[in-house]
Amino acid sequence: MKELEFRLDYCDKCMQMTNHIGNECQKCKAKKKKTSQMEFEVTAVLNDDFYNHFGIHPSLASLYGDKIKDIETLIMKISKDQTIPKTHMKEADYWGWFNAEKNKFTMMIYAQRFLLEMCFSYGIKEAEDAGQGKAYRIEIVETRDYKLE
Ligand SMILES: [Zn+2]
Repeated sequence: MKELEFRLDYCDKCMQMTNHIGNECQKCKAKKKKTSQMEFEVTAVLNDDFYNHFGIHPSLASLYGDKIKDIETLIMKISKDQTIPKTHMKEADYWGWFNAEKNKFTMMIYAQRFLLEMCFSYGIKEAEDAGQGKAYRIEIVETRDYKLE
């Protein structure tokens, strides 16, 4: 078997000297893979036909007019299709904000991309360009009853 040839080179994405195979930074590759395969848990409430109030905590449920029994735990993941919708989607099209500093999805998850867009004073693109994180289309893998701890 042919050995993989690592080459130490500067990566302008992670801005450090890293192992490369060909022109591909192996550190960035591993990170990318991890993020795209990642599943995460988040609480939400099903209202009408879509989930909202992502990240809701039982103690705040009444503030949102939700009942604790309506809180569910969603297992979500990044969708393969990351095409940015040109118009409002008829059905739920969940978009979430992956916070680069925290290296995880925040509670900023909405059933339409434009709702997420409204969280940013200068828009999603500005925030992405500033390296604060990235907006991803995400999808529900599984729903579970929320268990009070
Ligand atoms: Zn890199």
